[in-house]
Amino acid sequence: MKRFLRAGLMAAMLLLLGGCALAGPALQKKTGTAMGTVVQLCVYTTSPKEDVTESLFGQVRSLEEDLLSRRIEGSQVWAVNALAGSGTRAELTGRLGEIVSFGLQLGQDSGGAFDIALGPLVELWDIDSWAQGDNTGVFALPSREDVAEALAHCGSGQVEFQAASGGNPPRILLERGAALDLGAVGKGAALDELLAALEADISVTGAVLSLGGSVLTYGEKPDGTPWRVGVADPRNPSESLGTLALEGQWCVSTSGDYERYVEADGVRYHHILDPATGYPADSGLSSVTVVCRDGLASDGLSTACFVLGREKGWKLAEAYGAEALFVEKDGTIAMTPGMEALFERASSQ
Ligand code: FAD
Ligand code: MG
Repeated sequence: MKRFLRAGLMAAMLLLLGGCALAGPALQKKTGTAMGTVVQLCVYTTSPKEDVTESLFGQVRSLEEDLLSRRIEGSQVWAVNALAGSGTRAELTGRLGEIVSFGLQLGQDSGGAFDIALGPLVELWDIDSWAQGDNTGVFALPSREDVAEALAHCGSGQVEFQAASGGNPPRILLERGAALDLGAVGKGAALDELLAALEADISVTGAVLSLGGSVLTYGEKPDGTPWRVGVADPRNPSESLGTLALEGQWCVSTSGDYERYVEADGVRYHHILDPATGYPADSGLSSVTVVCRDGLASDGLSTACFVLGREKGWKLAEAYGAEALFVEKDGTIAMTPGMEALFERASSQ
Protein backbone atom coordinates (compact mmCIF):
# COMPACT_ATOMS: atom_id res chain seq x y z
CA MET A 1 0.00 0.00 0.00
CA LYS A 2 2.80 2.35 1.06
CA ARG A 3 4.61 1.54 -2.17
CA PHE A 4 1.52 2.54 -4.26
CA LEU A 5 1.18 5.71 -2.24
CA ARG A 6 4.84 6.53 -2.84
CA ALA A 7 4.50 5.69 -6.54
CA GLY A 8 1.39 7.87 -6.74
CA LEU A 9 3.16 10.73 -5.03
CA MET A 10 6.15 10.37 -7.34
CA ALA A 11 3.87 10.45 -10.37
CA ALA A 12 2.11 13.55 -9.04
CA MET A 13 5.46 15.24 -8.43
CA LEU A 14 6.72 14.39 -11.91
CA LEU A 15 3.48 15.76 -13.34
CA LEU A 16 3.93 18.92 -11.33
CA LEU A 17 7.54 19.29 -12.41
CA GLY A 18 6.52 18.45 -15.97
CA GLY A 19 3.80 21.06 -15.77
CA CYS A 20 6.27 23.68 -14.56
CA ALA A 21 8.76 22.76 -17.25
CA LEU A 22 6.07 23.10 -19.90
CA ALA A 23 4.93 26.46 -18.60
CA GLY A 24 8.58 27.57 -18.20
CA PRO A 25 10.00 29.49 -15.29
CA ALA A 26 8.18 32.65 -14.24
CA LEU A 27 9.92 36.00 -13.95
CA GLN A 28 9.92 37.76 -10.58
CA LYS A 29 11.09 41.36 -10.37
CA LYS A 30 11.80 43.81 -7.59
CA THR A 31 13.25 47.31 -7.55
CA GLY A 32 14.17 49.14 -4.36
CA THR A 33 16.94 51.13 -2.75
CA ALA A 34 19.61 49.83 -0.42
CA MET A 35 23.28 50.65 0.18
CA GLY A 36 22.57 54.17 -1.10
CA THR A 37 21.80 52.91 -4.59
CA VAL A 38 19.12 51.35 -6.79
CA VAL A 39 18.71 47.59 -6.45
CA GLN A 40 17.06 45.73 -9.34
CA LEU A 41 16.40 42.03 -8.99
CA CYS A 42 15.10 39.78 -11.80
CA VAL A 43 14.78 36.07 -11.06
CA TYR A 44 13.40 33.23 -13.17
CA THR A 45 11.89 30.58 -10.93
CA THR A 46 9.81 27.43 -11.32
CA SER A 47 8.22 28.17 -7.96
CA PRO A 48 6.38 31.42 -8.57
CA LYS A 49 4.45 31.19 -5.32
CA GLU A 50 7.49 32.04 -3.23
CA ASP A 51 8.67 35.60 -3.45
CA VAL A 52 12.34 34.94 -4.14
CA THR A 53 13.20 38.56 -4.94
CA GLU A 54 11.69 39.81 -1.67
CA SER A 55 13.93 37.53 0.33
CA LEU A 56 17.03 38.47 -1.73
CA PHE A 57 16.26 42.15 -1.18
CA GLY A 58 15.95 41.48 2.55
CA GLN A 59 19.42 39.92 2.47
CA VAL A 60 20.93 43.06 0.91
CA ARG A 61 19.24 45.24 3.50
CA SER A 62 20.40 43.17 6.45
CA LEU A 63 23.94 43.01 5.08
CA GLU A 64 23.90 46.80 4.94
CA GLU A 65 22.30 47.31 8.35
CA ASP A 66 24.02 44.55 10.32
CA LEU A 67 27.45 44.47 8.76
CA LEU A 68 28.65 46.93 6.18
CA SER A 69 27.28 50.46 6.55
CA ARG A 70 29.49 53.02 8.27
CA ARG A 71 26.48 55.32 8.50
CA ILE A 72 24.00 53.02 10.26
CA GLU A 73 24.42 52.98 14.02
CA GLY A 74 24.80 49.44 15.30
CA SER A 75 26.26 47.89 12.13
CA GLN A 76 29.54 46.04 12.63
CA VAL A 77 31.53 48.55 10.58
CA TRP A 78 29.96 51.38 12.59
CA ALA A 79 30.97 49.59 15.82
CA VAL A 80 34.54 49.00 14.59
CA ASN A 81 34.85 52.70 13.70
CA ALA A 82 33.38 53.73 17.06
CA LEU A 83 36.12 51.73 18.82
CA ALA A 84 38.96 53.44 16.87
CA GLY A 85 41.66 54.60 19.24
CA SER A 86 40.14 52.84 22.25
CA GLY A 87 42.66 50.00 22.18
CA THR A 88 39.79 47.50 22.20
CA ARG A 89 39.86 44.92 19.43
CA ALA A 90 36.51 44.44 17.73
CA GLU A 91 35.46 40.90 16.79
CA LEU A 92 34.21 40.51 13.23
CA THR A 93 31.44 38.03 12.57
CA GLY A 94 29.82 36.67 9.46
CA ARG A 95 31.57 37.50 6.26
CA LEU A 96 33.07 40.78 7.41
CA GLY A 97 36.43 39.20 8.29
CA GLU A 98 36.79 37.88 4.73
CA ILE A 99 35.76 41.20 3.23
CA VAL A 100 38.27 43.14 5.33
CA SER A 101 40.98 40.59 4.60
CA PHE A 102 40.28 40.82 0.84
CA GLY A 103 40.25 44.63 1.02
CA LEU A 104 43.62 44.78 2.79
CA GLN A 105 45.15 42.34 0.28
CA LEU A 106 43.83 44.37 -2.67
CA GLY A 107 45.23 47.48 -0.97
CA GLN A 108 48.64 45.82 -0.90
CA ASP A 109 48.40 44.47 -4.46
CA SER A 110 47.41 47.89 -5.79
CA GLY A 111 50.26 49.66 -4.03
CA GLY A 112 47.80 51.51 -1.78
CA ALA A 113 45.55 52.82 -4.59
CA PHE A 114 42.72 50.85 -3.04
CA ASP A 115 42.09 51.57 0.64
CA ILE A 116 39.28 50.24 2.82
CA ALA A 117 40.52 52.52 5.60
CA LEU A 118 39.87 55.68 3.59
CA GLY A 119 36.94 56.65 5.85
CA PRO A 120 38.29 60.00 7.14
CA LEU A 121 38.97 61.25 3.59
CA VAL A 122 35.64 59.93 2.22
CA GLU A 123 33.83 61.68 5.08
CA LEU A 124 35.73 64.94 4.52
CA TRP A 125 34.80 65.12 0.83
CA ASP A 126 31.36 63.58 1.43
CA ILE A 127 30.80 63.43 -2.33
CA ASP A 128 28.16 60.68 -2.06
CA SER A 129 25.88 62.90 0.02
CA TRP A 130 26.47 65.98 -2.15
CA ALA A 131 25.81 64.00 -5.32
CA GLN A 132 22.65 62.50 -3.83
CA GLY A 133 21.36 65.92 -2.77
CA ASP A 134 21.43 64.90 0.89
CA ASN A 135 23.40 67.99 1.94
CA THR A 136 22.06 71.52 2.06
CA GLY A 137 24.05 74.62 1.14
CA VAL A 138 26.84 74.88 -1.39
CA PHE A 139 29.67 72.38 -1.81
CA ALA A 140 32.97 73.90 -0.69
CA LEU A 141 36.29 72.42 -1.66
CA PRO A 142 38.09 71.08 1.44
CA SER A 143 41.28 72.96 2.28
CA ARG A 144 44.67 71.35 1.53
CA GLU A 145 45.32 71.26 5.27
CA ASP A 146 42.08 69.37 5.93
CA VAL A 147 42.86 66.91 3.14
CA ALA A 148 46.36 66.31 4.54
CA GLU A 149 44.96 65.89 8.07
CA ALA A 150 42.33 63.35 6.87
CA LEU A 151 44.94 61.45 4.83
CA ALA A 152 47.16 61.14 7.90
CA HIS A 153 44.44 58.92 9.42
CA CYS A 154 43.95 56.73 6.32
CA GLY A 155 45.73 53.66 5.00
CA SER A 156 46.48 50.13 6.09
CA GLY A 157 48.96 51.46 8.68
CA GLN A 158 45.89 52.52 10.70
CA VAL A 159 44.54 48.97 10.81
CA GLU A 160 45.67 46.01 12.88
CA PHE A 161 43.86 42.94 11.58
CA GLN A 162 44.04 39.39 12.93
CA ALA A 163 42.53 36.72 10.70
CA ALA A 164 40.38 33.98 12.24
CA SER A 165 42.51 31.24 13.75
CA GLY A 166 42.14 28.30 16.12
CA GLY A 167 38.41 28.82 16.54
CA ASN A 168 38.87 32.54 17.34
CA PRO A 169 36.97 35.04 15.20
CA PRO A 170 38.86 37.66 13.18
CA ARG A 171 39.66 40.82 15.14
CA ILE A 172 40.40 44.39 14.15
CA LEU A 173 41.82 47.45 15.87
CA LEU A 174 41.88 50.93 14.36
CA GLU A 175 44.11 53.84 15.35
CA ARG A 176 42.49 56.98 16.76
CA GLY A 177 40.78 58.99 14.01
CA ALA A 178 40.77 56.05 11.54
CA ALA A 179 37.61 54.64 9.95
CA LEU A 180 36.70 51.82 7.59
CA ASP A 181 34.67 52.64 4.47
CA LEU A 182 33.51 49.61 2.47
CA GLY A 183 31.70 51.62 -0.22
CA ALA A 184 33.99 50.18 -2.91
CA VAL A 185 33.38 46.51 -2.08
CA GLY A 186 30.03 46.33 -0.25
CA LYS A 187 27.81 45.81 -3.27
CA GLY A 188 30.13 43.18 -4.69
CA ALA A 189 30.17 41.38 -1.34
CA ALA A 190 26.38 41.48 -1.37
CA LEU A 191 26.32 39.90 -4.85
CA ASP A 192 28.39 36.99 -3.52
CA GLU A 193 25.84 36.44 -0.74
CA LEU A 194 22.96 36.61 -3.19
CA LEU A 195 24.73 34.12 -5.45
CA ALA A 196 24.95 31.63 -2.58
CA ALA A 197 21.20 32.07 -1.98
CA LEU A 198 20.41 31.50 -5.68
CA GLU A 199 22.57 28.38 -5.75
CA ALA A 200 20.79 27.01 -2.68
CA ASP A 201 17.36 27.47 -4.29
CA ILE A 202 16.69 24.71 -6.82
CA SER A 203 13.62 26.51 -8.14
CA VAL A 204 15.81 29.33 -9.55
CA THR A 205 16.83 28.74 -13.16
CA GLY A 206 18.35 32.13 -13.91
CA ALA A 207 18.76 35.63 -12.53
CA VAL A 208 20.23 39.03 -13.16
CA LEU A 209 20.75 41.12 -10.03
CA SER A 210 21.92 44.71 -10.16
CA LEU A 211 23.16 46.75 -7.20
CA GLY A 212 24.11 50.16 -8.58
CA GLY A 213 27.28 49.64 -10.59
CA SER A 214 27.60 45.93 -9.78
CA VAL A 215 25.68 43.19 -11.59
CA LEU A 216 25.45 39.42 -11.13
CA THR A 217 24.24 37.10 -13.90
CA TYR A 218 23.30 33.55 -13.01
CA GLY A 219 21.96 30.44 -14.76
CA GLU A 220 20.06 30.67 -18.01
CA LYS A 221 17.48 32.86 -19.65
CA PRO A 222 14.41 30.84 -20.64
CA ASP A 223 15.00 31.62 -24.34
CA GLY A 224 18.60 30.38 -24.10
CA THR A 225 20.17 33.69 -25.21
CA PRO A 226 23.04 35.18 -23.17
CA TRP A 227 22.46 37.77 -20.46
CA ARG A 228 23.19 41.25 -21.75
CA VAL A 229 24.72 43.90 -19.50
CA GLY A 230 25.17 47.41 -20.89
CA VAL A 231 28.34 49.44 -20.44
CA ALA A 232 27.38 53.09 -20.02
CA ASP A 233 29.03 55.86 -21.99
CA PRO A 234 30.70 57.88 -19.21
CA ARG A 235 30.05 61.18 -21.03
CA ASN A 236 26.43 60.31 -21.75
CA PRO A 237 25.44 57.69 -19.16
CA SER A 238 21.94 57.17 -20.53
CA GLU A 239 23.58 55.79 -23.71
CA SER A 240 25.60 52.62 -23.80
CA LEU A 241 29.01 52.07 -25.40
CA GLY A 242 28.08 48.48 -25.96
CA THR A 243 26.92 45.36 -24.19
CA LEU A 244 28.53 42.38 -22.54
CA ALA A 245 27.02 39.06 -23.65
CA LEU A 246 27.41 36.71 -20.70
CA GLU A 247 26.59 33.00 -20.42
CA GLY A 248 25.87 31.73 -16.91
CA GLN A 249 27.40 33.14 -13.75
CA TRP A 250 29.45 36.35 -13.90
CA CYS A 251 29.96 39.52 -11.86
CA VAL A 252 30.33 42.86 -13.61
CA SER A 253 31.30 46.07 -11.81
CA THR A 254 31.82 49.54 -13.18
CA SER A 255 33.51 52.46 -11.44
CA GLY A 256 33.28 55.81 -13.14
CA ASP A 257 33.68 59.54 -12.63
CA TYR A 258 30.05 59.99 -13.75
CA GLU A 259 28.42 57.88 -11.01
CA ARG A 260 28.65 60.39 -8.16
CA TYR A 261 30.12 63.84 -8.45
CA VAL A 262 29.71 67.51 -7.64
CA GLU A 263 30.83 70.45 -9.74
CA ALA A 264 32.49 73.54 -8.33
CA ASP A 265 33.91 76.36 -10.48
CA GLY A 266 33.43 74.19 -13.55
CA VAL A 267 35.52 71.33 -12.14
CA ARG A 268 34.03 67.88 -11.56
CA TYR A 269 34.88 66.30 -8.20
CA HIS A 270 33.90 62.63 -8.22
CA HIS A 271 33.69 60.01 -5.49
CA ILE A 272 36.70 57.80 -6.23
CA LEU A 273 39.59 59.25 -4.29
CA ASP A 274 43.29 58.73 -4.83
CA PRO A 275 44.96 57.88 -1.51
CA ALA A 276 48.24 59.18 -2.95
CA THR A 277 46.91 62.74 -3.31
CA GLY A 278 43.76 62.93 -1.20
CA TYR A 279 41.87 64.24 -4.27
CA PRO A 280 39.51 62.58 -6.76
CA ALA A 281 41.54 60.11 -8.82
CA ASP A 282 42.87 61.63 -12.02
CA SER A 283 44.40 58.69 -13.85
CA GLY A 284 43.17 59.62 -17.31
CA LEU A 285 40.15 57.30 -17.09
CA SER A 286 36.42 58.02 -17.11
CA SER A 287 35.37 54.49 -16.26
CA VAL A 288 36.54 50.94 -15.75
CA THR A 289 34.37 47.83 -16.09
CA VAL A 290 35.63 44.58 -14.61
CA VAL A 291 34.21 41.10 -15.24
CA CYS A 292 35.07 38.03 -13.18
CA ARG A 293 33.31 35.25 -11.27
CA ASP A 294 33.52 36.89 -7.87
CA GLY A 295 31.50 39.95 -6.76
CA LEU A 296 33.94 41.16 -4.12
CA ALA A 297 36.79 41.02 -6.63
CA SER A 298 34.91 42.68 -9.50
CA ASP A 299 33.74 45.55 -7.28
CA GLY A 300 37.11 46.07 -5.57
CA LEU A 301 39.07 45.78 -8.80
CA SER A 302 36.96 48.29 -10.73
CA THR A 303 37.68 50.91 -8.07
CA ALA A 304 41.37 49.99 -7.77
CA CYS A 305 41.86 49.98 -11.57
CA PHE A 306 40.14 53.36 -11.86
CA VAL A 307 42.63 54.88 -9.40
CA LEU A 308 45.64 53.15 -10.98
CA GLY A 309 44.86 54.08 -14.59
CA ARG A 310 44.94 51.91 -17.68
CA GLU A 311 48.44 50.44 -17.66
CA LYS A 312 48.71 49.48 -14.00
CA GLY A 313 45.01 48.66 -13.75
CA TRP A 314 45.34 46.25 -16.67
CA LYS A 315 48.17 44.39 -14.90
CA LEU A 316 46.22 44.26 -11.64
CA ALA A 317 43.11 42.88 -13.34
CA GLU A 318 45.24 40.25 -15.10
CA ALA A 319 46.87 39.26 -11.80
CA TYR A 320 43.39 38.55 -10.41
CA GLY A 321 42.31 36.63 -13.51
CA ALA A 322 39.71 39.31 -14.31
CA GLU A 323 38.79 40.99 -17.60
CA ALA A 324 38.70 44.79 -17.80
CA LEU A 325 37.44 47.50 -20.13
CA PHE A 326 38.93 50.98 -19.76
CA VAL A 327 37.32 54.15 -21.10
CA GLU A 328 39.75 57.05 -21.21
CA LYS A 329 38.71 60.66 -20.77
CA ASP A 330 38.97 61.27 -24.54
CA GLY A 331 36.60 58.33 -25.16
CA THR A 332 39.26 55.81 -26.23
CA ILE A 333 38.31 52.27 -25.26
CA ALA A 334 40.88 49.62 -24.39
CA MET A 335 40.14 46.11 -23.16
CA THR A 336 41.81 42.86 -22.18
CA PRO A 337 41.59 40.05 -24.77
CA GLY A 338 39.03 38.09 -22.73
CA MET A 339 36.83 41.20 -22.59
CA GLU A 340 37.01 41.53 -26.40
CA ALA A 341 35.26 38.16 -26.59
CA LEU A 342 32.40 39.37 -24.36
CA PHE A 343 31.92 42.97 -25.51
CA GLU A 344 29.77 44.00 -28.45
CA ARG A 345 30.12 47.66 -29.42
CA ALA A 346 26.91 49.63 -29.89
CA SER A 347 26.29 50.37 -33.56
CA SER A 348 26.46 54.12 -32.83
CA GLN A 349 30.08 53.77 -31.60
P1 FAD B 1 33.00 52.20 -6.39
O1 FAD B 1 34.20 52.54 -7.20
O2 FAD B 1 32.69 50.77 -6.25
O3 FAD B 1 33.18 52.76 -4.91
C1 FAD B 1 33.45 54.11 -4.62
C2 FAD B 1 33.27 54.29 -3.18
O4 FAD B 1 34.33 53.64 -2.48
C3 FAD B 1 33.30 55.74 -2.74
O5 FAD B 1 32.02 56.28 -2.71
C4 FAD B 1 33.97 55.65 -1.39
O6 FAD B 1 33.00 55.29 -0.42
C5 FAD B 1 34.93 54.49 -1.54
N1 FAD B 1 36.25 54.87 -2.10
C6 FAD B 1 36.62 56.00 -2.76
N2 FAD B 1 37.90 55.93 -3.15
C7 FAD B 1 38.37 54.73 -2.74
C8 FAD B 1 39.63 54.08 -2.84
N3 FAD B 1 40.69 54.66 -3.43
N4 FAD B 1 39.76 52.84 -2.29
C9 FAD B 1 38.71 52.25 -1.66
N5 FAD B 1 37.50 52.83 -1.53
C10 FAD B 1 37.32 54.05 -2.07
N6 FAD B 1 25.71 56.21 -0.26
C11 FAD B 1 24.85 57.15 0.15
O7 FAD B 1 24.82 58.22 -0.46
N7 FAD B 1 24.02 56.97 1.24
C12 FAD B 1 24.04 55.81 1.93
O8 FAD B 1 23.31 55.65 2.91
C13 FAD B 1 24.93 54.78 1.54
N8 FAD B 1 25.02 53.61 2.22
C14 FAD B 1 25.86 52.63 1.78
C15 FAD B 1 25.91 51.42 2.47
C16 FAD B 1 26.75 50.41 2.04
C17 FAD B 1 26.82 49.12 2.80
C18 FAD B 1 27.55 50.58 0.86
C19 FAD B 1 28.44 49.48 0.35
C20 FAD B 1 27.50 51.78 0.18
C21 FAD B 1 26.68 52.82 0.65
N9 FAD B 1 26.62 54.03 -0.01
C22 FAD B 1 25.76 55.02 0.41
C23 FAD B 1 27.59 54.33 -1.03
C24 FAD B 1 27.09 54.31 -2.39
O9 FAD B 1 26.45 53.12 -2.73
C25 FAD B 1 28.37 54.55 -3.15
O10 FAD B 1 28.20 55.58 -4.01
C26 FAD B 1 28.83 53.40 -3.84
O11 FAD B 1 29.29 52.43 -2.93
C27 FAD B 1 29.86 53.76 -4.84
O12 FAD B 1 29.84 52.73 -5.65
P2 FAD B 1 30.30 52.80 -7.12
O13 FAD B 1 30.00 51.48 -7.70
O14 FAD B 1 29.81 54.01 -7.79
O15 FAD B 1 31.85 53.06 -6.97
MG1 MG C 1 33.98 49.15 -6.46
